[in-house]
Amino acid sequence: MTNRLLGDLPTTIFEVMSELAKTHGAVNLGQGFPDSPGPEDIRRAAAEAAVDGDNQYPSMMGLPALREAVAAHYHRRQGLSIDPAQVLVTCGATEALAAAILGLVEPGDEVVMFQPLYDSYAPMVRRAGGVAKFVTLSPPDWRITAEALEAAITDRTRMVIFNNPLNPSAVVYDRDQLQVLADACLRHDLIAICDEVWEEIVFGDPPFTPLWTLPGMADRCVKIGSAGKIFSLTGWKIGWTLASPPLTKAIAKAHQFLTFTIAPPLQAAVAVGLAKDATYFSGMQAEFRRSRDRLTAGLRDAGFVVAPSQGTYFLTVDLPASGIPMADDAFALLAVKEAGVASIPVSAFYDRDPVKTVLRLCYAKKDTTLDSGIERLAKARRLAAG
Ligand code: PMP
Ligand code: GLN
Repeated sequence: MTNRLLGDLPTTIFEVMSELAKTHGAVNLGQGFPDSPGPEDIRRAAAEAAVDGDNQYPSMMGLPALREAVAAHYHRRQGLSIDPAQVLVTCGATEALAAAILGLVEPGDEVVMFQPLYDSYAPMVRRAGGVAKFVTLSPPDWRITAEALEAAITDRTRMVIFNNPLNPSAVVYDRDQLQVLADACLRHDLIAICDEVWEEIVFGDPPFTPLWTLPGMADRCVKIGSAGKIFSLTGWKIGWTLASPPLTKAIAKAHQFLTFTIAPPLQAAVAVGLAKDATYFSGMQAEFRRSRDRLTAGLRDAGFVVAPSQGTYFLTVDLPASGIPMADDAFALLAVKEAGVASIPVSAFYDRDPVKTVLRLCYAKKDTTLDSGIERLAKARRLAAG
């Protein structure tokens, strides 16, 4: 009766944990969203655009003002030379990923992905008729090796999907690691889907480098971004793809039947936001760094072993090293039900052979939220240790 490929999947872990958090009145350090309202000027710009602006269908490629703002933003922030015609506005990065995969993967094409991976990648590749191939990365450094990558590539490989900074491990890949990937893409003539939604939630060590900027890569990259992350407005779901004109044309063919176009007041407001100067970005990064450090210090004081977080809204905890003799999913359930704190088990980011020893926590929260989260996690740890 239903499509087995999608119908047989469990509900995404982010929804499951947020619903459990509501049911149990828990502090939610699971799903990645800030508990601040987001920049007021951008929210006001959206309200004004809704009241005074045009609310009929915009162009399916996106509002011209936003496409221009995206191109100018990447020129300023990352030194990219992109024509606005190479920008396609989508309903969040989630739709950007879906449109890129559906628009570019032919049935039978092999697509190489790295585990842990964002939970939409493999199902969308399979729905497009592609064959999912995995390279498994391991804690604590989650490094990509040329040997493991080469072993996953065959003459049917068409695409690689790469997330940097990496959710959930909070690693930012440096230039040497990017070169390993670029070498493979050039050697085997692959398209690289670069899920770079966390590009602005980084702390400079190592600096964030878009794969696009490596020699020979600009024409084979589909770079995906999300205003939800850049402006702490995750519910807005404004994203985009940047790609060469032929790749953009193919992705737009999928986008026109997924959503066709995106709410114009939100697009207009994101265009306003992208004109912000460097102080907005440095201020946001300083604020997230402070929250990251607060959660890290509080958890360490409570006996948790916390891995360094180089970017994203997240940090991870090593459960066995923290004295917790439970699998990540079992501990996450205990923590939300018995201690009132939601988290994300990192095993949910694996298609197969999951690592079950790592827990992800979101630090993009007010101090009071973080402090009560720490207290409750300490309680969960005591309960787990028996
Ligand atoms: N990719 C990754 C790696 C993410 O972490 C997220 C959301 N946290 C997305 C894609 C989806 O972004 P959006 O909310 O813009 O759809
Ligand atoms: N990407 C966000 C996270 O990792 C959540 C996105 C979602 O809920 N689909 O928590």
